[in-house]
Amino acid sequence: MNTNQLSKRLALVASFVPRDTVLADIGSDHAYLPCYLTNKGIISKAIAGEVVKGPYDQAVRNVQANGFGDKIDVRLANGLQAIQPTDGVETVTIAGMGGTLIASILESGKDCLAGVKRIIAQPNIYAIAVRQWAVENGFFIVDEEILLEDGKIYEVVVLERGIAHYTPTELLVGPILKEKASAVFHAKWEREMQEWNRVLTALNQAEQTEEIQQKKASIEYHYELVRKVLAT
Ligand code: SAM
Repeated sequence: MNTNQLSKRLALVASFVPRDTVLADIGSDHAYLPCYLTNKGIISKAIAGEVVKGPYDQAVRNVQANGFGDKIDVRLANGLQAIQPTDGVETVTIAGMGGTLIASILESGKDCLAGVKRIIAQPNIYAIAVRQWAVENGFFIVDEEILLEDGKIYEVVVLERGIAHYTPTELLVGPILKEKASAVFHAKWEREMQEWNRVLTALNQAEQTEEIQQKKASIEYHYELVRKVLAT
Protein backbone atom coordinates (compact mmCIF):
# COMPACT_ATOMS: atom_id res chain seq x y z
CA MET A 1 0.00 0.00 0.00
CA ASN A 2 1.22 3.54 -0.72
CA THR A 3 -0.18 7.08 -0.54
CA ASN A 4 -1.80 6.75 -3.98
CA GLN A 5 -3.46 3.41 -3.43
CA LEU A 6 -5.40 2.14 -0.46
CA SER A 7 -6.99 -1.24 0.18
CA LYS A 8 -10.61 -1.38 -1.07
CA ARG A 9 -11.69 -1.24 2.58
CA LEU A 10 -9.77 1.93 3.43
CA ALA A 11 -10.69 3.49 0.07
CA LEU A 12 -14.34 3.05 1.00
CA VAL A 13 -13.72 4.77 4.35
CA ALA A 14 -11.88 7.58 2.49
CA SER A 15 -14.81 8.04 0.11
CA PHE A 16 -16.95 9.29 3.01
CA VAL A 17 -14.47 11.96 4.17
CA PRO A 18 -15.76 15.43 3.20
CA ARG A 19 -13.46 17.77 1.24
CA ASP A 20 -11.40 20.34 3.15
CA THR A 21 -12.23 18.86 6.53
CA VAL A 22 -9.92 18.59 9.52
CA LEU A 23 -9.64 14.86 10.15
CA ALA A 24 -8.69 12.76 13.16
CA ASP A 25 -7.87 9.17 12.20
CA ILE A 26 -7.94 7.16 15.41
CA GLY A 27 -5.98 3.89 15.46
CA SER A 28 -4.12 5.12 12.39
CA ASP A 29 -1.43 2.40 12.39
CA HIS A 30 0.75 3.33 9.34
CA ALA A 31 -1.24 6.58 8.78
CA TYR A 32 -2.12 5.31 5.30
CA LEU A 33 -5.56 6.92 5.35
CA PRO A 34 -4.51 10.50 6.30
CA CYS A 35 -1.49 10.25 3.93
CA TYR A 36 -3.74 9.20 1.04
CA LEU A 37 -6.31 11.96 1.74
CA THR A 38 -3.55 14.57 2.03
CA ASN A 39 -1.86 13.36 -1.14
CA LYS A 40 -5.15 13.65 -3.05
CA GLY A 41 -5.69 17.17 -1.67
CA ILE A 42 -8.98 16.08 -0.09
CA ILE A 43 -8.20 17.21 3.46
CA SER A 44 -6.43 20.29 4.73
CA LYS A 45 -5.10 18.91 8.00
CA ALA A 46 -5.10 15.65 9.95
CA ILE A 47 -4.28 14.13 13.27
CA ALA A 48 -3.18 10.50 13.17
CA GLY A 49 -3.77 9.02 16.63
CA GLU A 50 -2.15 5.73 17.62
CA VAL A 51 -1.84 4.16 21.06
CA VAL A 52 0.90 1.60 20.35
CA LYS A 53 4.50 2.81 19.97
CA GLY A 54 5.48 0.54 17.01
CA PRO A 55 2.62 1.61 14.69
CA TYR A 56 3.02 5.20 15.94
CA ASP A 57 6.71 5.20 14.89
CA GLN A 58 5.70 3.72 11.52
CA ALA A 59 3.09 6.46 11.07
CA VAL A 60 5.69 9.15 11.88
CA ARG A 61 8.09 7.62 9.31
CA ASN A 62 5.40 7.44 6.60
CA VAL A 63 4.28 11.02 7.18
CA GLN A 64 7.89 12.29 7.06
CA ALA A 65 8.80 10.16 4.01
CA ASN A 66 5.89 11.74 2.14
CA GLY A 67 6.75 15.28 3.24
CA PHE A 68 3.40 15.73 4.98
CA GLY A 69 4.84 16.77 8.36
CA ASP A 70 3.17 20.18 8.20
CA LYS A 71 -0.25 18.69 7.39
CA ILE A 72 -0.44 15.50 9.46
CA ASP A 73 0.28 15.53 13.17
CA VAL A 74 0.98 12.01 14.45
CA ARG A 75 0.16 11.64 18.14
CA LEU A 76 0.81 8.81 20.56
CA ALA A 77 -2.50 8.80 22.45
CA ASN A 78 -5.30 6.59 23.68
CA GLY A 79 -8.42 6.93 21.51
CA LEU A 80 -9.98 10.37 21.20
CA GLN A 81 -7.44 11.86 23.62
CA ALA A 82 -5.42 12.47 20.43
CA ILE A 83 -7.81 15.36 19.72
CA GLN A 84 -7.22 18.78 21.34
CA PRO A 85 -10.03 21.41 21.43
CA THR A 86 -7.88 23.82 19.35
CA ASP A 87 -7.45 21.29 16.50
CA GLY A 88 -10.87 22.09 15.02
CA VAL A 89 -11.48 18.43 14.14
CA GLU A 90 -14.75 17.99 12.20
CA THR A 91 -14.40 14.41 10.97
CA VAL A 92 -13.26 11.29 12.81
CA THR A 93 -12.34 8.02 11.11
CA ILE A 94 -11.91 4.90 13.20
CA ALA A 95 -11.34 1.77 11.17
CA GLY A 96 -10.15 -1.79 11.30
CA MET A 97 -11.17 -2.68 14.86
CA GLY A 98 -14.07 -4.57 16.39
CA GLY A 99 -17.31 -2.66 16.88
CA THR A 100 -17.15 -3.07 20.65
CA LEU A 101 -13.70 -1.46 20.80
CA ILE A 102 -14.80 1.37 18.48
CA ALA A 103 -17.87 2.02 20.65
CA SER A 104 -15.78 1.99 23.85
CA ILE A 105 -13.25 4.44 22.33
CA LEU A 106 -16.11 6.75 21.31
CA GLU A 107 -17.79 6.42 24.71
CA SER A 108 -14.70 7.05 26.82
CA GLY A 109 -13.59 10.01 24.70
CA LYS A 110 -16.90 11.61 23.87
CA ASP A 111 -15.93 14.91 25.54
CA CYS A 112 -13.40 15.31 22.71
CA LEU A 113 -16.12 15.14 20.05
CA ALA A 114 -17.47 18.67 20.68
CA GLY A 115 -16.82 20.08 17.17
CA VAL A 116 -17.10 16.77 15.32
CA LYS A 117 -19.80 16.65 12.65
CA ARG A 118 -19.14 13.25 11.10
CA ILE A 119 -17.78 9.94 12.38
CA ILE A 120 -16.86 7.27 9.85
CA ALA A 121 -16.56 3.91 11.59
CA GLN A 122 -15.41 0.68 9.98
CA PRO A 123 -16.02 -2.11 12.45
CA ASN A 124 -14.59 -5.48 11.38
CA ILE A 125 -17.22 -7.27 13.45
CA TYR A 126 -20.17 -6.41 15.69
CA ALA A 127 -21.20 -3.16 13.95
CA ILE A 128 -24.32 -3.21 16.15
CA ALA A 129 -22.21 -1.78 19.01
CA VAL A 130 -21.39 1.31 16.90
CA ARG A 131 -25.04 1.80 15.91
CA GLN A 132 -26.15 1.43 19.53
CA TRP A 133 -23.52 3.93 20.68
CA ALA A 134 -24.73 6.38 18.00
CA VAL A 135 -28.39 6.38 19.02
CA GLU A 136 -27.48 6.71 22.70
CA ASN A 137 -25.21 9.69 21.97
CA GLY A 138 -27.13 11.95 19.59
CA PHE A 139 -25.82 10.62 16.29
CA PHE A 140 -27.74 8.98 13.46
CA ILE A 141 -26.71 6.85 10.48
CA VAL A 142 -26.41 8.91 7.29
CA ASP A 143 -24.93 6.17 5.14
CA GLU A 144 -23.63 2.62 5.28
CA GLU A 145 -21.71 0.39 2.92
CA ILE A 146 -20.57 -3.20 2.93
CA LEU A 147 -17.77 -4.73 0.89
CA LEU A 148 -15.94 -7.96 0.29
CA GLU A 149 -12.15 -7.91 0.13
CA ASP A 150 -9.86 -10.96 0.22
CA GLY A 151 -12.73 -13.14 1.40
CA LYS A 152 -13.58 -10.86 4.35
CA ILE A 153 -16.69 -8.74 4.64
CA TYR A 154 -16.42 -5.23 6.07
CA GLU A 155 -19.06 -2.65 7.00
CA VAL A 156 -18.69 1.13 7.04
CA VAL A 157 -21.11 3.16 9.15
CA VAL A 158 -21.26 6.94 8.67
CA LEU A 159 -22.67 8.98 11.57
CA GLU A 160 -23.72 12.60 11.90
CA ARG A 161 -25.42 14.50 14.69
CA GLY A 162 -29.15 13.95 14.97
CA ILE A 163 -31.78 11.83 16.63
CA ALA A 164 -33.09 8.63 15.08
CA HIS A 165 -34.86 5.51 16.25
CA TYR A 166 -34.04 2.11 14.85
CA THR A 167 -35.71 -1.26 15.26
CA PRO A 168 -33.69 -4.14 16.77
CA THR A 169 -33.34 -5.55 13.25
CA GLU A 170 -32.01 -2.23 11.90
CA LEU A 171 -29.49 -1.98 14.73
CA LEU A 172 -28.31 -5.50 13.98
CA VAL A 173 -28.00 -5.43 10.19
CA GLY A 174 -27.90 -1.68 9.53
CA PRO A 175 -30.94 0.37 8.44
CA ILE A 176 -29.33 1.54 5.19
CA LEU A 177 -27.57 -1.74 4.41
CA LYS A 178 -30.94 -3.44 4.83
CA GLU A 179 -32.50 -1.10 2.26
CA LYS A 180 -29.58 -1.46 -0.16
CA ALA A 181 -29.77 -5.26 0.27
CA SER A 182 -26.63 -5.90 -1.80
CA ALA A 183 -25.29 -9.34 -2.70
CA VAL A 184 -22.49 -8.87 -0.14
CA PHE A 185 -25.06 -8.02 2.54
CA HIS A 186 -26.92 -11.26 1.77
CA ALA A 187 -23.65 -13.21 1.78
CA LYS A 188 -22.66 -11.76 5.17
CA TRP A 189 -25.89 -12.73 6.87
CA GLU A 190 -26.09 -16.13 5.20
CA ARG A 191 -22.59 -16.82 6.59
CA GLU A 192 -23.68 -15.56 9.99
CA MET A 193 -26.78 -17.78 10.00
CA GLN A 194 -24.67 -20.82 9.10
CA GLU A 195 -22.36 -20.00 12.00
CA TRP A 196 -25.33 -19.57 14.37
CA ASN A 197 -26.69 -22.95 13.23
CA ARG A 198 -23.31 -24.54 13.97
CA VAL A 199 -23.22 -22.96 17.44
CA LEU A 200 -26.84 -23.98 18.16
CA THR A 201 -26.06 -27.60 17.26
CA ALA A 202 -23.11 -27.55 19.68
CA LEU A 203 -25.17 -25.87 22.41
CA ASN A 204 -27.96 -28.45 21.99
CA GLN A 205 -25.43 -31.18 22.74
CA ALA A 206 -24.25 -29.45 25.93
CA GLU A 207 -25.84 -29.73 29.37
CA GLN A 208 -28.89 -27.42 29.33
CA THR A 209 -27.86 -25.00 32.09
CA GLU A 210 -29.57 -21.61 32.42
CA GLU A 211 -26.56 -19.95 30.79
CA ILE A 212 -26.69 -22.28 27.77
CA GLN A 213 -30.42 -21.74 27.42
CA GLN A 214 -30.00 -17.96 27.50
CA LYS A 215 -27.29 -18.19 24.85
CA LYS A 216 -29.53 -20.32 22.65
CA ALA A 217 -32.47 -17.95 23.09
CA SER A 218 -30.32 -14.98 22.10
CA ILE A 219 -29.02 -16.72 18.96
CA GLU A 220 -32.51 -17.91 18.02
CA TYR A 221 -33.84 -14.37 18.47
CA HIS A 222 -31.17 -12.85 16.20
CA TYR A 223 -31.48 -15.73 13.73
CA GLU A 224 -35.19 -15.03 13.35
CA LEU A 225 -34.62 -11.28 12.82
CA VAL A 226 -32.11 -11.98 10.05
CA ARG A 227 -34.18 -14.78 8.48
CA LYS A 228 -37.06 -12.32 8.03
CA VAL A 229 -34.74 -9.71 6.46
CA LEU A 230 -33.33 -12.19 3.96
CA ALA A 231 -36.79 -13.49 3.12
CA THR A 232 -38.03 -10.05 1.98
N1 SAM B 1 -7.07 2.14 10.99
C1 SAM B 1 -6.12 1.29 10.27
C2 SAM B 1 -6.83 0.48 9.23
O1 SAM B 1 -8.06 0.44 9.25
O2 SAM B 1 -6.15 -0.15 8.41
C3 SAM B 1 -5.39 0.37 11.26
C4 SAM B 1 -6.20 -0.74 11.81
S1 SAM B 1 -5.29 -1.68 12.99
C5 SAM B 1 -5.95 -3.25 12.83
C6 SAM B 1 -5.94 -1.05 14.51
C7 SAM B 1 -5.02 0.00 15.09
O3 SAM B 1 -5.71 0.65 16.15
C8 SAM B 1 -3.77 -0.60 15.69
O4 SAM B 1 -2.64 0.06 15.19
C9 SAM B 1 -3.95 -0.38 17.19
O5 SAM B 1 -2.73 -0.17 17.86
C10 SAM B 1 -4.81 0.86 17.21
N2 SAM B 1 -5.60 1.06 18.42
C11 SAM B 1 -6.29 0.13 19.13
N3 SAM B 1 -6.85 0.69 20.21
C12 SAM B 1 -6.57 2.02 20.16
C13 SAM B 1 -6.85 3.12 21.00
N4 SAM B 1 -7.56 2.99 22.12
N5 SAM B 1 -6.38 4.34 20.65
C14 SAM B 1 -5.63 4.50 19.54
N6 SAM B 1 -5.30 3.48 18.72
C15 SAM B 1 -5.76 2.26 19.01
